[in-house]
Amino acid sequence: MRTTADPGGPEPRAAQPAPRPAAQPAARAVQASWIEPAPWQVAAVRRESGDVVTLDLTPPEPFEFLPGQFNMLYLAGIGEVPISISGDPRANTEVLHTIRDVGPVTKALCALRPGQQVGVRGPYGTSWPVAAAAGGDLVIIAGGIGLPPLRPALYQALTTRPTCCSLSSSPPGGAGSTWMCR
Ligand SMILES: Cc1cc2nc3c(=O)[nH]c(=O)nc-3n(C[C@H](O)[C@H](O)[C@H](O)COP(=O)(O)OP(=O)(O)OC[C@H]3O[C@@H](n4cnc5c(N)ncnc54)[C@H](O)[C@@H]3O)c2cc1C
Repeated sequence: MRTTADPGGPEPRAAQPAPRPAAQPAARAVQASWIEPAPWQVAAVRRESGDVVTLDLTPPEPFEFLPGQFNMLYLAGIGEVPISISGDPRANTEVLHTIRDVGPVTKALCALRPGQQVGVRGPYGTSWPVAAAAGGDLVIIAGGIGLPPLRPALYQALTTRPTCCSLSSSPPGGAGSTWMCR
């Protein structure tokens, strides 16, 4: 409705209800395995180099993870550190972690022996989008302790690409390795 004092302009619009916020994705349920460290058994220890060790850990129950995810490894009285999972995602009863001894917690982890236990929380983190590379070439480049987190992605690529792959690696002492899969 307009009066003579109206300066003109468009007719005022009736008040509209505020737009509803876009629907939020449902929050992920918190898993018990994210909160409380579970006791995992050291099944085997492999020394990769002077300061790098791979722990083969047995979870109390089959453990699912995606390539690129990591666990929190905890030693009572010493500390807890994030360590990537470095094995085959299909091997859910033997879970590998490759650790470089750089400080107090990683030193103690590298000194573990078969039969001992370590507390584990996880898995955490997002995953490598290996499936998104389907139909294209895939080049995985890593160096040093950056390679272990990529190994699960490599396993997944090998599983889904049976005709893969060519491999080239740098010489001993070189900067890293390059795996090329078609
Ligand atoms: C998501 C995530 C995944 C990880 N995955 C792995 C893994 O798979 N394997 C692994 O070995 N580490 C991994 N790390 C790194 C590891 O968590 C750290 O090295 C950790 O802080 C070591 O704890 P610490 O108590 O032994 O030594 P700290 O007391 O934390 O560090 C001791 C000294 O070493 C230096 N330092 C710390 N990390 C490194 C490093 N990587 N290289 C060189 N110097 C370092 C620190 O600056 C410090 O001076 C990961 C870290 C993150 C965040």
